[in-house]
Amino acid sequence: MLHEVINPATETVVAQVALAGLDETDAAIAAAEAAGPAWRAVSPADRGRLLRRFADEVDAHLEELARLEVANAGHTIGNARWEAGNVRDVLTYYAAAPERAFGRQIPVAGGLDVTFKEPLGTVGIIVPWNFPMPIAGWGFAPALAAGNTVVLKPAELTPMTAIRLGELALDAGLPEGVFTVIPGKGSVVGERFVTHPAVRKVCFTGSTAVGQRIMRGAADQVKRVTLELGGKSANIVFADSDLERAAASAPYGVFDNAGQDCCARSRILVQRSVFDRFMELLEPAVKGVVVADPSQESTEMGPLISAGQRETVRSFVDESSEPVDVAFRGEAPGGDGYWYPATVVLPRSTGDRVWQEEIFGPVVAVMPFDDEADAVTKANDTAYGLSGSIWTRDVGRAIRVARGVEAGNLSVNSHSSVRYSTPFGGFKQSGLGRELGPDALDAFTELKNVFISSDSSSSES
Ligand code: NAP
Ligand code: MG
Repeated sequence: MLHEVINPATETVVAQVALAGLDETDAAIAAAEAAGPAWRAVSPADRGRLLRRFADEVDAHLEELARLEVANAGHTIGNARWEAGNVRDVLTYYAAAPERAFGRQIPVAGGLDVTFKEPLGTVGIIVPWNFPMPIAGWGFAPALAAGNTVVLKPAELTPMTAIRLGELALDAGLPEGVFTVIPGKGSVVGERFVTHPAVRKVCFTGSTAVGQRIMRGAADQVKRVTLELGGKSANIVFADSDLERAAASAPYGVFDNAGQDCCARSRILVQRSVFDRFMELLEPAVKGVVVADPSQESTEMGPLISAGQRETVRSFVDESSEPVDVAFRGEAPGGDGYWYPATVVLPRSTGDRVWQEEIFGPVVAVMPFDDEADAVTKANDTAYGLSGSIWTRDVGRAIRVARGVEAGNLSVNSHSSVRYSTPFGGFKQSGLGRELGPDALDAFTELKNVFISSDSSSSES
C-alpha cells in the first residue's frame, strides 16, 4: 500500500512511501529478534564504536536530513538542523554507555554478589509527527547502546527522515536487523508492537488516548512501556521578573514548531499587578514572530503538519462552540499550506477548553494570578505535567515554585526543556518513565542479580 507524503507548506507530494502490512511487520520483528544474540555479543567497545560511526554518518548528512524534514514536516530550517544535530549528539552521548553499563558488587556472606544490566531483547519505538528525528533518536540510541535491537515506526505523516536514518545506520556498519524502520499505520504496525510477544518494550510518544490504549494492551504480556504524552504547560510570570525579557521570550516558549510541541508553554500565568503591562509587551513580540516559508533562514514559524491538524486548532478558537476572546494574533501566509497565525486568547475561566485541553497549535491562553499560592494552584489545575517556566528575580520563590509545580521539566528565567544529558518526561497524564540523561539505559535493561558461592566444598565434592 502506497502513502503520499505531503509538504505541509506547499501541499505538494514529497514522496510515495510503501506502508508495511502485518506480515511485513512480523517479518521485521522476527529479523530484529534473530539479530539480537549477535548484537549483544558485540564487545562494549565495538558497540560504542559503531554508535559513534552512526553519529558520524548523521553528521555527514546533516544538511540533507534537515532539508528532508523541512519538506516533510514544515519545520524551519534552523530547527531542522538542530534536530538532525540532536540525533548525532544523542548517539555520541550513548556511544559512551556500553563501556559504562556498570553493575554493582554487593557485600554478602559466603560469596560474591554482582548485578548486571541485561538488554530486554527487541524494543519497539512509536514516533509522532511533531519531532520525527529527535524523538526517534531518544529511543533508538540508548536502546541500541544497551544491547537491544530496535524496530521503529515513524508517524505516517512524517516517515522520510526516519527511513533515511535507517539507511545511515546500515552505512555506518550496524548489522542488518539491529535497527529497522517500518513505515506504516499506527493501527497496524504500532498495534503489532504491542501484541507481538518478541517486542519486549514499547516506547511511545504521542496522544494521551493512544498512550492509554498501548498501556492497556501491554498489560497482557506485562510488556514494559515508556510513554511521553501531551502537555498543557504553564509559563508563570511574577511581577518581580524581568518583564521585558519574559514577554519577549514567551512567544518562543509556545509557538516554536507552530505550537506542535508537547512542552509548549501554552498557558501563560501573569501576576495581576503587571498583567496589563505584560500584555502590552507581548503583543509586538507575538506580531514579530516571522511566519513564512520554512526553508528560509529567517523564518521562525512554519505551517501546521496537516489540514486535519489545522481543523483541530480552528475547532478550539475560530469554530469553537464556547465563546473565545482573541486578544491579538500575528500574520500567516495565505494560499497553499496549512498556515495558522500565532494567536493569543483570554479564557473566561479555568474550565475553558482553551485553558484545559492540549491544542497542539500556535495558540496561547493568558490569565492573571494573585500570589505564589494561586500561581501554583492554577499551574497544577491540569491533567498534564510535562514542563513549565518560572520568571522571577527572587531565588527563594523560584525554588519554592519549581518544587510546587507538578511537572517533569521546569526552567527558571528560560524556556529550555530538553537537553540530551538531563532526564525528560512527564508527571500525571503527561507520561510514564523518563528518557535521556545519565540513567536512560535503565529503561532499556533488566537488572539481574547473581550470587556466586565462594564455598570450595560445594564445587569440589
Ligand atoms: P497519535 O495518534 O497518538 O500518533 C502518535 C503515533 O502513534 C503515530 O506514529 C501513530 O501512527 C501511532 N499510533 C496511532 N494509533 C496507534 C495505535 N492504536 N497503536 C499504536 N500506535 C498508534 O497522535 P496524532 O493523532 O498524530 O495527534 C493527535 C494529538 O496527539 C495531537 O493533536 C497532540 O495533542 C497529541 N500529540 C502529542 C505528541 C507529543 O509529543 N506528546 C505528539 C504528537 C501528537 P499514525 O501516524 O499512523 O497515526
Ligand atoms: Mg491519531
